[in-house]
Amino acid sequence: MKRQGVFQIAIDGPVGAGKTSVGRLLARRLGCRFLDTGLTYRAVALAALDREIDLKDSAALGSLAATMRLAVGGDPDGESKILVDGKDVSARLKSESVSDAASLVSAVQEVRRHMVAAQRRIAASESIVMVGRDIGTVVLPDADLKIFLTATPETRARRRYDELVGRGEAASYDEILASLRGRDRRDSERDASPLRAARGAHVVKTDNMELEEVVSAIEKLAGGG
Ligand code: C5P
Repeated sequence: MKRQGVFQIAIDGPVGAGKTSVGRLLARRLGCRFLDTGLTYRAVALAALDREIDLKDSAALGSLAATMRLAVGGDPDGESKILVDGKDVSARLKSESVSDAASLVSAVQEVRRHMVAAQRRIAASESIVMVGRDIGTVVLPDADLKIFLTATPETRARRRYDELVGRGEAASYDEILASLRGRDRRDSERDASPLRAARGAHVVKTDNMELEEVVSAIEKLAGGG
C-alpha cells in the first residue's frame, strides 16, 4: 500500500470482531483519522427517537437523514465525536435502545445513501481508517487496503461477556451469543449492503490473537510496522 499522500484503510466485519478497538489503535499508530461508521447510523437512530419518528416509516427516516446536519470531530486520542445539528451526542449513542433502533434505521436504503455520501466526504480530504459493514464493498471500494475482521460467534460472545463482567455488570453468555447471532443474521441477510468480505479484502481471523497482534498484522499488510 502506498503511504505517501492520502490513504484509506477499510475494515469490515461482524459485530464483536474488534473492529473499533483495532481501527482506533491502528489509526493512532498511523497518525491518521479514525471513523467508526456505526456511529453515523446510531446518530440517525438517536435523532429519530428524539423526534419520535416511527422507525417503520422509511420515508420519514430518509428525510431525517437528508436534513440533519451530521459532523464528525475527533480528539487527539482518536475518539470519534459525533455532532448532530451542532450538538455533541457522542455520549448517548451506545445505549441498548439506540443499538436496536440503529439496526432498523441502517436497513433503510435512503438513510444509507446519505450516510455513505457523508462518510465519503470525510474520507476525501485526509488519510483515514474507516470501520463498518460496507466500507470495502460500497463506501470506499478503491481503498488502499481492505480488511475483513472476523472471529467465531462463540469467541465474539465470550469477549463481550468478559467485557461486561469486567465492568461489574450482570451478563449471560447464552443471551449474548443468541443476540449476536441475530444481529449477524440481520446484517448479512438484509437487502441493502449486506455484510460480506469485499473483493480483494484480507480476511483476518482474530480468535487466537490479541489486539496488538491484530493491529501489527494489519500494519504489516499496509506496508509499515
Ligand atoms: O457497529 P455498530 O453496532 O455501532 O453499528 C450500528 C448499526 O449500524 C448496526 O445495526 C450495523 O449493522 C449498522 N451499520 C451499517 N453499516 C455500517 C456500520 C454500521 O449498516 N457501515
